Amino acid sequence: MSRDTTTDQSLEHNLRYAAGEAVHEARHPGKQPIQPGRRLAVVACMDARLDVEDLLGLQTGDAHIIRNAGGVVTEDTLRSLIISHHLLNTNEVALIHHTRCGMLAFTDDLLKAGLEGDAAATKMLGQATGRAFKGLDTCSATPSAFYAFRGTPEALDAPRDDHNMERLAWDVRRGMSAILNHPWIPTSGEDAITVRGFIYDVDTGRLEEVSYPGDTGSIG
Ligand SMILES: [Zn+2]
Repeated sequence: MSRDTTTDQSLEHNLRYAAGEAVHEARHPGKQPIQPGRRLAVVACMDARLDVEDLLGLQTGDAHIIRNAGGVVTEDTLRSLIISHHLLNTNEVALIHHTRCGMLAFTDDLLKAGLEGDAAATKMLGQATGRAFKGLDTCSATPSAFYAFRGTPEALDAPRDDHNMERLAWDVRRGMSAILNHPWIPTSGEDAITVRGFIYDVDTGRLEEVSYPGDTGSIG
């Protein structure tokens, strides 16, 4: 991997950000082209503790930022990435999950049961979040999935440990695989995109790269 990609430069910016330096300029830059200047697309969790432009040292106009709960590569994420590459010329993707993510703290079945008014689920979700969980006592077919991370749920906002880091890494790899194996996303030839995955530590401000391919074994 060349050391002068936008992603590599963003990792250098991240070290400075974690050390307390302001690496994003928050001001209107004037007229700019529609194509992201650094040819980067970032997929990141919506978590309030992540300021994506700040932690990567990106400036206005540098990158597409695609965010949702978990930074999950859903069908809609793929839709945005395909448009980002083929119409707007990005060629690097950075996928960012993070420590203490809320997606580690529930399962799809539990949230659906709670929303449908199941008393036990409602009680568990209330205890887990510290917020009175109000079920709606009704069913819905959508969203079809919440994409809670695979593995046994843990307490909300639990500190990082080997187990939850592996759960996070597993979902990063799942997202990277979904991008790299999509038939409309080229990964070889001169139009190829590169995809790299990271876990951001919300306590230190540091990004850590996830190996790919990597272990996809049992994570309980
Ligand atoms: Zn999150």
